Amino acid sequence: MRLSEIGGLEEVQNKLVQAVKSGQVPHAQLFMGKQGSPNLPMALAYATFLNCENPSDNDSCGTCASCIKMDKYIHPDVHFVFPVSSTKNITGKDVVSTNFLKEWRSFLLDSPFGNMNQWATVFGGEDKQANISKEESRQIIKNLSLKAFEAKYKVMIIWLPEFMHPSAANGILKILEEPPEKTVFLLVSNDHEKLLTTILSRTQRVTIPQFTDQELTQSLIDKHGVEETRARQLAHLANGDLQAALRFMNSVEDNNHQLFADWMRDCFKRDFTSMVKRADSFHAMNKVAQKSLLLYGITMLRESLIRNTVPDLARVSGEEGKFLENFSKVMNPDKVAAISEKLNEAHYHLERNASAKMMFLDLSLQISMIIK
Ligand SMILES: [Zn+2]
Repeated sequence: MRLSEIGGLEEVQNKLVQAVKSGQVPHAQLFMGKQGSPNLPMALAYATFLNCENPSDNDSCGTCASCIKMDKYIHPDVHFVFPVSSTKNITGKDVVSTNFLKEWRSFLLDSPFGNMNQWATVFGGEDKQANISKEESRQIIKNLSLKAFEAKYKVMIIWLPEFMHPSAANGILKILEEPPEKTVFLLVSNDHEKLLTTILSRTQRVTIPQFTDQELTQSLIDKHGVEETRARQLAHLANGDLQAALRFMNSVEDNNHQLFADWMRDCFKRDFTSMVKRADSFHAMNKVAQKSLLLYGITMLRESLIRNTVPDLARVSGEEGKFLENFSKVMNPDKVAAISEKLNEAHYHLERNASAKMMFLDLSLQISMIIK
């Protein structure tokens, strides 16, 4: 990953690059950004820049030996730590990042903008609570005690340090404060408020904002071949989250509007026969499609609220706009909040393999009660 591949946030990039050029590389930085912000890509691109043998004024070269290794995430001096859980094949003390590197690399190559849920699907730990264990902190210390093989800097990227077990966090305090020479820690967090203050106080913070609608639109056009009007719509819906935009695009989003609109009409009319049939047909869809429908619903609810409160900011037009105009007439902020919560809960249960049929039927009943 190179800085130019991130697709925006040049101000942040400039600050990072300037610090390197002036020889002021902080030994521990915290890349803070909400889920959907490019904080992990930024850390990857920054690590690539740090060790590039032939950097330009504002980016790594992309062709030197170091860049080529970074491109495949196989640089021997760049270490990764991330949340994992036991799986069918890996249990007990073996549950540490180094035993998941193959999956991790394919995750980074396929979806460097991905989130924890996607990562769990890749390594096969969807059902268990992932964390960064005490054993992992021992590995960190061990890995950093070795001299750099070839690079200018040894880099330790810790993705989602908020998943660190307190004993793991305490285990790395000392090395985080005084790492060996030419060692750089990059902590990449989606929820820095969950970090111990002792960790926070030992890092220099870098805020990674979400993409703007414009940056997101451009990324969708340039990198994903989306046509401009569609790209703009997706960017609006995704609220700065590239991954969400891709999810909307790749799943069944064209169908989602019709499904959601019909579903809400059933709930409004309290048509129980139809609700039962609908639960059956939702049940028959695959899990990605089910989740995508729920997320689409959450987005539409948010839009209906915006339409009611600040009409000027309403982002949706066409068929969806027409639906929202009617829908927002029967909705108020309390109803929107209540239904959103139900959809969020349903999404959570689906992730944990609840029966889709029962869940959707129950959801329909609850929504119809809230609407009335
Ligand atoms: Zn290079």
